[in-house]
Amino acid sequence: MAGIRIEHLYKRYGKDKQTVVNDFHLDIKDKEFLVFVGPSGCGKSTTLRMIAGLEDISEGEIYIGDQLVNDLPPKDRDIAMVFQNYALYPNMTVFENIAFGLRLRKLPRHEIEQSVKRAARVLEIEPYLNRKPKELSGGQRQRVALGRAIVRDPQVFLMDEPLSNLDAKLRVQMRMEIIKLHKTLETTFIYVTHDQIEAMTMADRIVVMKDGVIQQIDTPETVYTTPNNTFVASFIGSPQINLIEGKIVEDIPGSGKLQFQTSRFLLPIPQEAARVLVHHNKVNKRVTLGIRPENIGLEGLFSDAIITGAYKVSELMGADRFLHLDIGQDKLLVVRVNAYYHCEENENIRIVPDMSKALFFDADSGVRFKI
Ligand code: ADP
Ligand code: MG
Repeated sequence: MAGIRIEHLYKRYGKDKQTVVNDFHLDIKDKEFLVFVGPSGCGKSTTLRMIAGLEDISEGEIYIGDQLVNDLPPKDRDIAMVFQNYALYPNMTVFENIAFGLRLRKLPRHEIEQSVKRAARVLEIEPYLNRKPKELSGGQRQRVALGRAIVRDPQVFLMDEPLSNLDAKLRVQMRMEIIKLHKTLETTFIYVTHDQIEAMTMADRIVVMKDGVIQQIDTPETVYTTPNNTFVASFIGSPQINLIEGKIVEDIPGSGKLQFQTSRFLLPIPQEAARVLVHHNKVNKRVTLGIRPENIGLEGLFSDAIITGAYKVSELMGADRFLHLDIGQDKLLVVRVNAYYHCEENENIRIVPDMSKALFFDADSGVRFKI
């Protein structure tokens, strides 16, 4: 078992030295479940492959435990990797597929048998050990691929979008299986996905990446409630956070009370946030307000924070309904309401954002003002 230290890691490709991993710096704790998440092409796989030793490092250092592994071949790094496209040998049984790597290493027969049985027990695929891959479901096959990684008893598991090829229902189930596996094995896991829900549900900590650069490293809760910038705020959470463009104005000059103003409405800004915005010299300047759909309610009787929006469409999610309202911005505002809520197209709806949950971002850089 081991932690991993990644120090100022870079990957540059091609003649023009395009930087696809840029100053990646991170301490991964022993036994941690860490998830790299970000849009396609942001450098997740490249980073993982450098950790595995499948890709040369352009600059920087990787330590597994206390050992510098930059020049260590993959087989000496004591890691196991599971990919999206795991290829099982079609003519071998499940047992033989899982045992294959151990046979190559010429382990004694009884040892191989023990390892395979132990892995099969953990993954609950003991009844299928004599079947061929084509006689298994997608989820069972993915478990066999995991089994091949488990029997190597590695210090670190690396997984690159291992569930992407499974259908939605199976993905949810396998997500839980992998979380259980991590608890059972008590080993360090690094898991790559472009799916923010996988990241939120599985991670001890999430690393959000964009264009090869780490945007935030935090627990799922912290990334969700206090994203570092508008990119993280929008990437994590479904439906997306509402980002509203406006200006900070003073309520009564000299009062210290601030409001968020758009061409259509004024919202009072809580004192704490107001202090921070004054500190950053944002009075009479443009800022972006972020508010998640679940932090907006239908009109409350005594609220002074009211937005009126014209109803356009809604999405019924089962327990909830998401209303999309035109509030005079580029994008429609999304509000989470009860599934039974009903209204007509273009009907004006009065809604109340919970301003204590509002986030404020720099209008140009997108960086959040920390309150
Ligand atoms: P992700 O896994 O986040 O989708 P990747 O790490 O696969 O992203 O890729 C990051 C960037 O590096 C992409 O822009 C991709 O086109 C580029 N890239 C990946 N492999 C190579 C390669 N062998 N040569 C040149 N560019 C590459
Ligand atoms: Mg990838």
